[in-house]
Parts: sequence; structure tokens; C-alpha cells
Amino acid sequence: MYDIAIIGAGINGSSVAYEMLHAGKKVIIFDGNGIAHGGSGAAGAFISPKFSKSGELKELIDKAFLYSMQFYEKKFPQLLTKAPLQHISKEGEKFPLIDAGIVNAQAMCNALCKGAKFINKDVEDIYYEDNQWIINETYSAKKVILSTGAYKAVIKEPYVELRGVWGHRIDVKTSTINDKSIHQFVSISPSKDGIVAIGATHNLDYHPQTSKEPYDMGDGRLELLEKASRTIELKDVEVIKDYTGLRSGSFDYMPLVGSLVLADETLVCCERKVKVKKANYEDFVYYPNLYMINGNGGYGFVLAPYLANILTENILSGKKIEDKISPARFFHRWAKRKK
Ligand SMILES: Cc1cc2nc3c(=O)[nH]c(=O)nc-3n(C[C@H](O)[C@H](O)[C@H](O)COP(=O)(O)OP(=O)(O)OC[C@H]3O[C@@H](n4cnc5c(N)ncnc54)[C@H](O)[C@@H]3O)c2cc1C
Repeated sequence: MYDIAIIGAGINGSSVAYEMLHAGKKVIIFDGNGIAHGGSGAAGAFISPKFSKSGELKELIDKAFLYSMQFYEKKFPQLLTKAPLQHISKEGEKFPLIDAGIVNAQAMCNALCKGAKFINKDVEDIYYEDNQWIINETYSAKKVILSTGAYKAVIKEPYVELRGVWGHRIDVKTSTINDKSIHQFVSISPSKDGIVAIGATHNLDYHPQTSKEPYDMGDGRLELLEKASRTIELKDVEVIKDYTGLRSGSFDYMPLVGSLVLADETLVCCERKVKVKKANYEDFVYYPNLYMINGNGGYGFVLAPYLANILTENILSGKKIEDKISPARFFHRWAKRKK
């Protein structure tokens, strides 16, 4: 039996695997698409703070940015390219340069999972019996972590309303030498061996599971190149690689990290404690030993190391997770609105 089973090997699942392995746990991780082939395989993996207006999300991302830069630099310096970052507002205001970086997304996820048993299969079925989770009728684990991104949910709870947003980024060959990361209409990486990464689009009209028409890669390339050209003149451009994938986000863009509430059971046992303005989340009924980490939006590589550390400390030492990122907050909001 495994201590920890992780479902989904993107940057969230891989970061939790790393934390758990380093705490001495026996870890198994499942993904039918391989390691880092969902949103994480598509990411430019720019590690940057949030430059927009203040608020809870900015606070969280800025904290995660400092944590994750240090984490990548200390643990995986060979997979982090440090580069100054120039943020330019859409109106053209230039912010001071800051120290930031870019990680090699696929290599990073692979490195984080090293030491875990990897199963190249999707999880179709899980159930809890005799104090353990049974996975695909074959594997057992004391605890399960769901990190399935914007892809099909293994356990469906109505309050987990994550939206998959399709994104496209490209690598281009160019004779222009760019010496920093630039974020304006899109992000543009520094040149490495004559190659610059440009990304990403934010496409709300296309979804790989529901759209009737296939995604138009040509249109996506044109959009990326046009947006990049408003910031920098790239000469002799040749697109050499496309990356596409779904990132998942919640209604207010805050991630969801922690134990999953059993919605039906909670409503049956304690509806009166739920339909109040300020509920005590400890009154809710939770799945035994089942957790999630998801909803990182466009900041997956910034948030994941930080959130994985928070989740691991919660699971192994009982450290409380702040309400603002707890799945219970999403349950409470959903339950209050339910007729
Ligand atoms: C084009 C693009 C560019 C981006 N650029 C950046 C960037 O520069 N910086 C940044 O920080 N973030 C960026 N992001 C966002 C970032 O990629 C995501 O936030 C992050 O990848 C989410 O990670 P995840 O682990 O939650 O999900 P994913 O990486 O999508 O991983 C989920 C995995 O779960 C697997 N899965 C689903 N169901 C099952 C099942 N039943 N059994 C087993 N496995 C299952 C899927 O196959 C998938 O591999 C970008 C995203 C896109 C799309």
C-alpha cells in the first residue's frame, strides 16, 4: 500500500509528489498522458509576480512568487533560467525591472516526480474501504490527492466549478536578441540559442472536449505574433513549435487546496450551520483522506511549489489551510446560493 496516491502529473501533482517524497512517504502518481502533458506541458513557465491591482489573489501570487523562485533556485538551479523581467502595462507604462525566471516545464515536473512510482494510466475509479483508497481496483493508498487540472474530474462535487481556458504559446526562431522577459500583451522570453518563447493566448471560445470545430493553430500563431509585435520587433521570425493546453481557474481565480467537502452529506446533517453568512468550516463533513490542489489559472508554476508545501504541512502535521484557498469556501458559497 502507498502512503500517498496522486492523480494527475502536472506541476501541482508533481510538486506534491516532491514534498511527500521528501517527507519520507511512499508515493504513487497516475497520469494517462504522461508527466507534464496537460496545461503544464503547454506552459511557458514564466515565474513572475502579479502586477495588477491589489487584492487577495495578488497577495497570494506575490508570496508564492518569492517562495517558488527560491525553491527552484535552491533545488533545481539547472532547470531555472534567471532573467530580469520587464512588465509593461497595456497603456505602455514601464515598471522597474525585477529578478524573475523561467523554468523548463517538462523537465521540472519529471525531476519533481523522481522517486515516485509513476503509472501511465488514467484513474477511472476510486473508492474508500477499510481505511484505504482503492484505485482502478488495483492500487491502494492511505491518502489520495486530486490534481487533475481542467481535465475530467475523478470525483464530481457540484461546488468545484473549475473552468478550463485554452491557451496557445509558440517558440520562434528569430535573429533579434532579446535579453529579458517582457510581459505586456503576451509574455516574451529572453533569447536562448536564437529561440524566443511567446505566450500565451487566452481562448474562451475553444474547448477540446466541447468545440465542434478543431482549434485553428494558424489563427493562434497570428494572434501571438501580432501581440508580441506591439511590444518588440522580432526579425526573421520562424515558428518552430506550438504548445497548447487547458489551464483551470475558479470563478474568482483563487486556487483550491485542501480537503474535499461531501456536499450532500453536509447539507443533510447540518444545513442550518451552512446557510449562514459566516460558517465554521469545521462543521462540514469531509471525504476521508481525500484532498485537492487545483485552479492555479495562469500562474501554475508560480503557485504550485508554495501550495504543495501548504498542502503537505496540512496533511502531515495538521497545519490549517487558510479559508480563502480552502475547497470549503467554494462549498459554502455554492450551498448558500442553493435553493
Ligand atoms: C499556453 C499556456 C501557457 C502558460 N504559461 C504559464 C506561465 O508562463 N507561467 C505559469 O506559472 N503558468 C502558466 N500557465 C498555467 C499553468 O500551465 C497551469 O496553471 C498549470 O499547468 C496547472 O497545473 P495542474 O497540475 O493543475 O494541471 P495540468 O498540468 O493540466 O495537469 C493535470 C493532469 O491531470 C491529468 N489527469 C486528468 N484526469 C486524470 C485522471 N482521471 N487520471 C490521471 N490523470 C488525470 C491530465 O492528463 C493532466 O496531465 C500556462 C498555461 C497554458 C495553457
